[in-house]
Amino acid sequence: MLIQVVTLFPEMFAGVLDSSILKRARRGGRLDVHLVPLRPFGVGLHRQTDDYPFGGGVGMLLRADVVVPAVEWAMMHAKASAHVVFTSPQGRLFTQEVARELSRLEHVIIVAGHYEGIDERARALLQADEISIGDFVLTGGELPAMVMVDGLARLLPGVLGSSRGAEDDSFSRENGWLEGPQYTRPETYRGLAVPSVLTEGNHEAIRQYLNSMAERRTRERRPDLLADQE
Ligand code: SAM
Repeated sequence: MLIQVVTLFPEMFAGVLDSSILKRARRGGRLDVHLVPLRPFGVGLHRQTDDYPFGGGVGMLLRADVVVPAVEWAMMHAKASAHVVFTSPQGRLFTQEVARELSRLEHVIIVAGHYEGIDERARALLQADEISIGDFVLTGGELPAMVMVDGLARLLPGVLGSSRGAEDDSFSRENGWLEGPQYTRPETYRGLAVPSVLTEGNHEAIRQYLNSMAERRTRERRPDLLADQE
């Protein structure tokens, strides 16, 4: 899968893309991430990328005649037709289902907005899919873009390794429940013992236990997920 990220601040991505599972996914050729700096597409001598909003109001907007050519340039450098995503607090929510939907695509271009956002005409011209990472407002779309890249990458075949897929994670099972509590060594820590069923090797008992704990945790913390099923 190819993900291109159009951004004013490509330097923000280094630590995230060059660490841990994302680094391995890129090295293994399962994920290709290209950063497309927005600045060279700026207009005029100073490569201006933003301007004042018509009608007044505070802050600046990224210009459509900068964002659109940058995305079109990105499209020209890929084989498959691209799905364009604008990061925006006004978009549909980035849920596990949306991550799964996007992870099935061959080529995604994510545009990180900045300042007060992006001229509306860019969204219309590129038919962008606006996606939000939650009901709060950040200063820019770089962190949301990184969240999306990470959320997509771990769903690509082989990225999490053969021993463990993403299918047992919260929101990922058929019922959409949270995952239950988990334990590792030592078996007893500061007087707290791991539930004995997990150490006794009875696979059916373990399966039933994990299922009941997942339901309990979902009921306690996210009853809305159970209500959705009723
Ligand atoms: N004026 C916009 C509004 O009220 O909807 C907010 C703009 S925000 C300060 C600047 C940029 O940060 C946005 O264009 C978007 O790219 C990004 N951003 C901020 N919060 C976000 C969120 N919750 N999800 C995705 N992107 C977000």
